[in-house]
Amino acid sequence: MSKLAALPSVEKLAAALAPDIPLPRPLINLFIRREIDRFRQLLLADEEHSRESVEAAIKSGLREFANSRLQPVINATGVLIHTNLGRSPLGPRAASALQTIATGYSNLEFDLPSGTRGKRAGYLETALACLLETEAATAVNNCAAALVLTLRTLVAEGKNEVIVSRSELVEIGGGFRIPEILETSGAKLVEVGATNKTHLRDYQKALTPQTALILKVHRSNFYLEGFVGEPEIQEIAKVAHDHGIPLVEDLGSGAMINTDELAPIEHEPTPQECLRRGIDLVIFSGDKLLGGPQSGIIGGSAKLIAQIKKEPFFRAVRCDKLILTTLQESIDQYLETKADPTQSDVPVLTFLRTETHALKERARAIIAALPGLEAQITIAETLARPGGGTMPRSEFPSIALKITPRDQSIPKLAKKLRLGTPAIVGYTTDDALFLDLRTVFPDTDHAVTGALKATLSS
Ligand SMILES: *Cc1c(COP(=O)(O)O)cnc(C)c1O
Repeated sequence: MSKLAALPSVEKLAAALAPDIPLPRPLINLFIRREIDRFRQLLLADEEHSRESVEAAIKSGLREFANSRLQPVINATGVLIHTNLGRSPLGPRAASALQTIATGYSNLEFDLPSGTRGKRAGYLETALACLLETEAATAVNNCAAALVLTLRTLVAEGKNEVIVSRSELVEIGGGFRIPEILETSGAKLVEVGATNKTHLRDYQKALTPQTALILKVHRSNFYLEGFVGEPEIQEIAKVAHDHGIPLVEDLGSGAMINTDELAPIEHEPTPQECLRRGIDLVIFSGDKLLGGPQSGIIGGSAKLIAQIKKEPFFRAVRCDKLILTTLQESIDQYLETKADPTQSDVPVLTFLRTETHALKERARAIIAALPGLEAQITIAETLARPGGGTMPRSEFPSIALKITPRDQSIPKLAKKLRLGTPAIVGYTTDDALFLDLRTVFPDTDHAVTGALKATLSS
């Protein structure tokens, strides 16, 4: 107690401990006050803490707090859509539109020809429907919201049963599970089939007058192998339609191009394929393989989309102008590069199709710029992954810098790189730190070189 009373005032501590920490002063003061309170409790509980150790703890705590601010990271993990690292980066075209719309006024809900109130996202919805080769489409804040919104729209009092195969009761990440999402939406889950096999008759037998829809959920983040089987989408669609109910699919990733044509990986089903097979509404993310902003896209039947847009919950999950403008650029670009997707500037697609020899050349150039460091740096053949809960079987060849430091531990070097500016995140094994170049933007190679120089110089 007495020792803490001897601490200088919060203001003085802030000046002494955080002269170079780039945080707003009130935030630094708040942090210090909380830390002092915390230590006071510890001292009351008879823990020993010297004034010096308290000050040192506050100082390092402040640095960690400053590091938790949203900031750029060089993704050297080789995981293309890394959920922890912000999923898909936007391309230059979407980023530039974002800058323009964000910093000025726009016709967000204004009809320029008539000079009166206009429809939000009207252009985008038409462009989306065109790209999806379907009747109508709309977008909301993310795929989970799109699913909840769709379910809320399609289930009603006395008609709230949603049929899902037991092989598709997925946890989509962040702890969210399909059964819970259904419950939140006022739907009653009707599970059919077994974990490994679901037959058409399972769907048929589960139909009642209370059935609102059949839901398919793409097994995007895991796979089933062995004695497995399920009916064709076309067959399930026929069962649903004969019963007068829609078939909805939560597709998750939503690739707009044939992924297997870009890299030696699986074919990720496209929303277009699903719709062609008889799905009435397909739902997918904007910031997974699509490479746009965080959003959830719903496409399909014009009648159902109109119903969805009238549901009051739509208002709660509608996109803001920043999302709408970046999604608009992303979708326009897909439409414009349909004939030649290699012309697209979407970074995840560029990373997917980059040849390993190009990565190897960059690795060589980085190593050549780093003579005489306190480490052994070699070029390693590694495996990259799509990530983002998509294509769990699709590892494909990549190239990494394999770094074995001489005078420091591997975890310590990895931490130094994470705490640098810009932060660099790779992955470690027992004998090396790996920086996979597939997910590193080539124009940041110099930053990787600089960081290695700074952390590995004697
Ligand atoms: C990723 C995923 C979601 C969630 O998408 P968000 O855009 O993060 O809300 C939902 N369903 C499936 C099948 C997914 O893979």
